[in-house]
Amino acid sequence: MAKQLEKLMFVQGGRCFFCEQRIPATEASVEHLIARANGGPNSEDNCVACCKSLNALLANKPLKEKLRIVLNQRGQFKCPGHSSSKEASCSTGSNNLRFERLSRISADLKNRRPALPRTVNALRNTIDAVFQKKLTAEEIVSLLDELQSSGQITVRENKVEYQLAP
Ligand SMILES: [Zn+2]
Repeated sequence: MAKQLEKLMFVQGGRCFFCEQRIPATEASVEHLIARANGGPNSEDNCVACCKSLNALLANKPLKEKLRIVLNQRGQFKCPGHSSSKEASCSTGSNNLRFERLSRISADLKNRRPALPRTVNALRNTIDAVFQKKLTAEEIVSLLDELQSSGQITVRENKVEYQLAP
């Protein structure tokens, strides 16, 4: 069982299958999509690693109900045809772009260790430089916000602390 969890966590890049947050091994657990109590197999196809708290909540609920719970948390999920296709592709595009920018800046920051920018202004300048000064001030601010909300940095009184993944 422990091996299975390790393997799933590796496959999922150390992140919870559902919330996509990085979780320490002690907080991770094996969730059977179709609960074992409902006849779900212990095979890899039926198993994901997720936060213990969520696993406890999903427990032996039928898959249908689990899907509902997960979908309820995903404000951004839209079925095709519900909004105009132009709008849908546009929002996916900008989400992808934001994700790419965020990955790029966190990769850059990792490479800078241990000489990381220590103040918000210095970090702002670093981001500006990484993107060859092509970002607007708002885009830089929103990247800073996302670094914070994804838990990679903490800002206290203009000082930046880093919690970058290894
Ligand atoms: Zn989770």
